[in-house]
Amino acid sequence: MIVRKSPREVEAMARAGQVVAETLELVGENIRPGITTAELDRIAEEHIRARGGVPTFKGYRGFPASICASPGPMVVHGIPGPYRLEEGEVLSVDVGVTLGGLVGDSAYTFAVGEIGPEAQRLLDVCQAALEAGIANARPGNRVGDISAAVQRVTEEAGFSVVRSLVGHGVGRSMHEEPQIPNFGEPGRGPELAPGLTLAIEPMITAGSAAVALADDGWSISTADGSLSAHFEHTVAVTDGDPRVLTASTRLAAGSRVGSLLP
Ligand code: MG
Ligand code: MG
Repeated sequence: MIVRKSPREVEAMARAGQVVAETLELVGENIRPGITTAELDRIAEEHIRARGGVPTFKGYRGFPASICASPGPMVVHGIPGPYRLEEGEVLSVDVGVTLGGLVGDSAYTFAVGEIGPEAQRLLDVCQAALEAGIANARPGNRVGDISAAVQRVTEEAGFSVVRSLVGHGVGRSMHEEPQIPNFGEPGRGPELAPGLTLAIEPMITAGSAAVALADDGWSISTADGSLSAHFEHTVAVTDGDPRVLTASTRLAAGSRVGSLLP
């Protein structure tokens, strides 16, 4: 069942989303070679709780931490720990916050120090794919319009979308219907209407789309070891333009990537 939110619920989600955005900004400020992902997790959890929120991921199906921290070829669901970030790699950070009973969910892939041009292009294209998906979150469109836009931007750049992981509805639960694949056909799937709140989250790779689950039971990496990127926003469908509930002015998506947008 697809749950439409009341205007009051959307405002509550925007408050949760604001804490998510602040947390990602704070994590980004602390990312540097040598810091461990466990330290980033502690910084994030302290901020979420100081703002009155609860880290949604902690304890979710037994997940042991407040953020997901996924370096290099790891796509999603990395467990923070003793791993130390290295100059020149990328780190995907996923944050969920529950506040007032409603959830915000957003991810950002950061550069650790200076990264190479192809890694930067992967990040830029993933952000552009997210922007293209968000631009299609309009009443009367269908989920497939979002999916197809993400796929087109990614594949036109020569990259692959991960097919076994999808975006989702979000609200009182972190994962609600509908599923939002990052590939698909325009005009297909559930129709979008005001009050729908969606976590749109392209997960893309520089190599093949195949991924593999690690022995820890959580972290998912590219099967071929190629680099991956993940950007996500929680978005409300309105009567008009989509409203990004996890927007950050300091981590502005699309600031560098206008030329990549269709
Ligand atoms: Mg997420
Ligand atoms: Mg999500």
